[in-house]
This record gives sequence, structure tokens and C-alpha cells, in this order.
Amino acid sequence: MHHRIRVILKPREEDRLVRGHPWVYDNEIARVLGSPVAGDSVALESARGRFLGSALWSPRSKIRARRYTDEPRSFEEHLPDALERALALRATEFDRDRESFRVAFGEADALPGLIVDRFVGETPDGSRGVWLSVQILAAGMAAHKDAVVERLVAALSPDGIMERSEAPVLAFEGLESTVGALAGSVPPSVTILENGLRFEVDLASGQKTGWFLDQARNRAAAARYAKDARVLDAFCNQGGFGLACAAAGASSVLAVDSSAPALAAVAANAARNGLADRVATRAANAFDLLRELERSDERYGLIILDPPAFAKNKASVKGALRGYKDINLRAMKLLEPGGRLVTCSCSSWVDRDTFMSTVADAAADARRRFRVLEERPAAPDHPALLGYPESRYLKCAILQAL
Ligand code: SAH
Repeated sequence: MHHRIRVILKPREEDRLVRGHPWVYDNEIARVLGSPVAGDSVALESARGRFLGSALWSPRSKIRARRYTDEPRSFEEHLPDALERALALRATEFDRDRESFRVAFGEADALPGLIVDRFVGETPDGSRGVWLSVQILAAGMAAHKDAVVERLVAALSPDGIMERSEAPVLAFEGLESTVGALAGSVPPSVTILENGLRFEVDLASGQKTGWFLDQARNRAAAARYAKDARVLDAFCNQGGFGLACAAAGASSVLAVDSSAPALAAVAANAARNGLADRVATRAANAFDLLRELERSDERYGLIILDPPAFAKNKASVKGALRGYKDINLRAMKLLEPGGRLVTCSCSSWVDRDTFMSTVADAAADARRRFRVLEERPAAPDHPALLGYPESRYLKCAILQAL
């Protein structure tokens, strides 16, 4: 198939695309031959006429086009194949132990702007099923919503599909927040199994898609250091890390978050797994609480720092690094000798080297030395593309205080 619409880049603007990056910014485009609307499949070409792939058009976004294939193919043709390949990747990476996983991770799955999480478990009334939680974050993809829903139903036979398209980036795409059932019926919550523990996922109003699947394996990794430790799980959300640690034999877990609904979920999840006696929750600003704990001479054998993305764009990177340094410095001072720090960053605007050097700055200020035990990415249901650093957004380092 040959595209009707051609997007010609300015001279020498193709390098990033040639190296695997899927985005074309508005200021990199020299000419558009044709009049594309949101969701049109367009051909990308360099100034010298080299074909660079097929992309979805987002007319109002700075990220004007997002490539979905290197071939000259319409998105309609591409969609079923891309979904099939995404599922094939998960089939090789996952055992039955991880029945809930991310089905599609946007550009890294050749489905730009589309996030699909699959949750398998029990509803409050005890019926089992499969539900999908979907985020559509680009105008080019939003135009294909009906086709996407149809393919998801055909490929995954879910009992229901929930849309949770709510993010600041939507405004840049000219899209409205959209929340509601897209297909079937969606229960208020579903209790999933992760690392042998049961967690209730709030499909209608939990953060993002309802559960942070990207940390699944890092929670299990952290839990290996938890036996007999006093654990502090800061930015705990629904307690994924803290409960994994409690189940692995932590002597106590203090789970901290600023969100009251998240902490209510931690308490319910602790009870659900028979761990309530070892898990305490505390509603607080983690920045303040870390300082307060330091003053009160509390010390911990294992501390988890998993804050939200402090850097939402390029302009906020500097402030974000100050935030990362501050919480890491405080946590480092709270560690017992030999204690472990699990420190994470999910800002795609902060790369691995910058994050690790910020953590090293914190160690210098804390006057402590650390061994790097592990550096871990997101779970493999969040694939990463070489040449697209944004897809390697999650950094999780496990350090030991010497
Ligand atoms: N660790 C979690 C995910 C954390 S997401 C997991 O494994 O699933 C980040 C969390 O930080 C959110 O729950 C959010 O409510 C919380 N948060 C954001 N700012 C905060 C602050 N200043 N103090 C404490 N919690 C905060």
C-alpha cells in the first residue's frame, strides 16, 4: 500500500528516526503533501527522499507523528499484527504465575499512545474473569479507538474493558480525559494475584490503570532482602513492595503514602493476605516523614523509595533531581549498617546515568558508602526499544550500606 499523505522532514532531521526513535516533532517537518487529520497513516520521508516508515498523525501535538512500522502499511492493516506480536512476546516471557500483565506498551509495542493492562482475578461478588484497563494518550491512536476495542475483544475475550485515559499529556494532544467502560461490564475492583499475594485493583479510580505492573519483578527482588528486617515502604501506593516484604518475613513494615485511598487499599490488602499484624500505614508527605523519622532515631534494614515521576517534562528535570537527591539522602541516613535501599525513578526525562549520579550525590552528603547489589528495569511486559530511551523509563537500583 502507498500512503496518500507524505510528511517530508527538514534536512538532517532523520537521524533519530534512523536510530529507532519513533517520534517526529512539529519543528522537524519541512512539508506535508496532503491534508492529514488525526489518526491518518502518513509516510515519513527524509529531505533526500528516503522512506522512514509509516506514522500516525496527531495534528495538535508537538509530537506530530508517531511511527508504528518501517513498512509502507496503513494502521488498519498493522493493528492486528502488532497486537498479535505483543501477545507473542508476553507468551514467551510469562508463566501462569503472572496472569495479569501489560498487553501493550505504546511505541515499544508498535502501538503508539496505547497502553493496555490485563487483570485476571475475582470481583467483590466472587466471580472470576479477565478485564482490560486501557489508556489512549495520543490523538493519532484515539481516532482508532473503535478498531482497537474490536481487536482487543477478538484477541483477548475480556469480560469488560475500562478506559482510563486521564493524564496531563492529553491536553497537549487536544484530547479530553475519558473514563468509562468501553466494552462488556467492568466491576469496581478485581483482586489479582502477584508473586503469590492477592491485591485488589480499583479499575475505576485507582492510579493510572489501577495497578503498577511494571514493578512486579522488582517487588519480588526487594522482598529477597526483607527477612527479619524493619521495612519502610515510601510512596507505597497500594503496598506492592511492602506486602511482598511482609510475606517474605519482614519483622515490620511501615507503608507511607500521601493518598488516603491508597493506604486504605494497603490495609485491606494486608488483611487479605494475613499480614495485617506486621503492616502499619501512615498518611504523610514522604519528604517530611523521612526527616521526622531521622530526628526520632528510627532505623530500618530495608527502605523502598518508589516516588511518582518527579520530572514531567524537560523544564522540570532540575527540580526533579533535587527531589530525588533529598529523599535518597534522608533514606540513606535512616538505614542500619548493612541495610538495603531500593531506589526507583520512573521519570523518562531522567536517564539512568543521571539518576545514579544523583543517588551517588546523596550518598556523599549522607557520608555513607554503598554497594550496588542490583540494577533492574521494568518487568518485561514493559518492553524497551534501543534508540528510544523514553521506553527505558524505570530505573530500580538496590544498594547496600557498607
Ligand atoms: N510503590 C508503588 C507505586 C508508587 S506510585 C507500587 O509498588 O505500586 C507513587 C505513589 O506516591 C502514589 O501512590 C502517590 O500517591 C504517592 N505520592 C506522591 N507524592 C507523594 C508524597 N509527597 N509523599 C508521599 N506519597 C506521595
